Amino acid sequence: MSKDHYILALDQGTTSSRAILFDGDGVARASAQRELPQIFPGPGLVEHDARRIWRDTLATAQAALADGGVGAGQITGVGIANQRETTVIWRRDTSLPIHNAIVWQDRRTAAHCERLRRSGDDQLIQARTGLIVDPYFSATKIAWLLDNIDGARAAAEAGELAFGTIDTWLLWNLTGGASHATDATNASRTMLFDIHRQCWDEELCQLFNIPMNLLPAVYDCAADFGHTAKDLFESPIAITGMAGDQQAAAIGQACFAPGMIKSTYGTGCFVMLNTGAQAVTSQNRMLTTVAYRLGDQTTYALEGSIFVAGAALQWLRDGLQLIDAAPESEALAKSLDSTSGVIMVPAFTGLGAPYWDAEAKGAILGLTRDSGIAQIVRAGLEAVCFQSRDLLLAMHADALSTTAFADSGKLSLDVLRVDGGMAENDWLMQFLSDILDVAVDRPVTTETTALGAAYLAGLQTGVFASLDAITAQWRKQSSFVPNMAVETRDRLYTAWQQAVARVRTVP
Ligand code: ADP
Repeated sequence: MSKDHYILALDQGTTSSRAILFDGDGVARASAQRELPQIFPGPGLVEHDARRIWRDTLATAQAALADGGVGAGQITGVGIANQRETTVIWRRDTSLPIHNAIVWQDRRTAAHCERLRRSGDDQLIQARTGLIVDPYFSATKIAWLLDNIDGARAAAEAGELAFGTIDTWLLWNLTGGASHATDATNASRTMLFDIHRQCWDEELCQLFNIPMNLLPAVYDCAADFGHTAKDLFESPIAITGMAGDQQAAAIGQACFAPGMIKSTYGTGCFVMLNTGAQAVTSQNRMLTTVAYRLGDQTTYALEGSIFVAGAALQWLRDGLQLIDAAPESEALAKSLDSTSGVIMVPAFTGLGAPYWDAEAKGAILGLTRDSGIAQIVRAGLEAVCFQSRDLLLAMHADALSTTAFADSGKLSLDVLRVDGGMAENDWLMQFLSDILDVAVDRPVTTETTALGAAYLAGLQTGVFASLDAITAQWRKQSSFVPNMAVETRDRLYTAWQQAVARVRTVP
């Protein structure tokens, strides 16, 4: 590809909307970003203004082109990566949402999920979708909108409404309503998609009382999704790549071989382990999910999600006002030898994997008269590492119990590839390596989510010939290797487990 051709990646995250122009070497040439306001209408409720998400995405796309001095004609394809599960329903005729987007972190459907568990429907749901019943996923959010917004159910039955996760919402707007579609990774997070048959599941739609006419078409991650509508850019641009943000990050980290694992430390933390063509059913409450689908071939992953990672730093900054900016946490943590027993369990929106406790609340334990800002901030960082260990232990047990790895040799969790805003914190990455007892590799490009979207778009348009071409582009920036005494690790981790036990509401 000529150097004058670019791929435009749209990375619509929980806290910001970004557009990055990549060249054919995977190097970012221009970018633009806008913060996204969070709407908290009540305890456990988290919403976004869907129209603002669209406006910001378009504005950042236009700004990135302007910043790079690049015309629409030089863009070979657009790739979309997005916050997953967040649910929008809009009117097909006006493209107006019937309500704010219900964000993945929102807990309003906890009671509905509890009923599904009590009725035993969680078994069928996990078998079909690979997911653990939790308010996190889209299905109960869709049901809530249909049941609680005036006239929504009647309009849905009449075929007047469309559902989408943020990828679909952006695609709909980018194409001026011409394309109502998603990709297999985003579909796999709705709790309505059969990840084995790769189609919407009629029985689950009935169980949730969701009319199937609401649902988008499901494509591969690299596909012809449509073209941008007239007037958005100087000429129409093809949209050719799409994946949920965590899957996009795994692609941006070139985790293409079974056993490769990445962890993204942003607002939340998401660990993804490639399990190849086998959908491994977790015995340890991990999620089975679609890593990517290319050329009709599905690659699966085990995933563990921690709801609060960087969000704990945001709380320390905005809620408690203990720090002015998240990066300050590094010097504070370094200023101490330990937290002197202070432990933070940041269960602000319940606990995710492997606990899945929607009602758990956060706690700071072990406070003494000499506990101060530095101890609490460091405890917030340490919690991210302890939770990562929870996930890796569970995944390791799952993966080793399957034939996927028995066939292809041993599973080695020797290296964890990291990215996301928090991965910039060297102290945190070292403590992570120490607590996991695993090497941690940070790549040169930590914008892996956007890069993954660009890779997918480029695969479809031939900028990248194959996954091998992408693998060849991955570059390590830093490695962190374990350097903690076993006894110290064990003592700290045991104290963490005891702290978690104190906040849990279900065994
Ligand atoms: P997202 O894509 O989820 O919006 P990012 O990957 O941009 O998140 O990461 C931002 C998060 O990382 C914020 O929650 C912020 O508090 C945290 N963060 C950023 N820099 C640091 C740092 N140096 N140390 C610790 N946390 C950080």
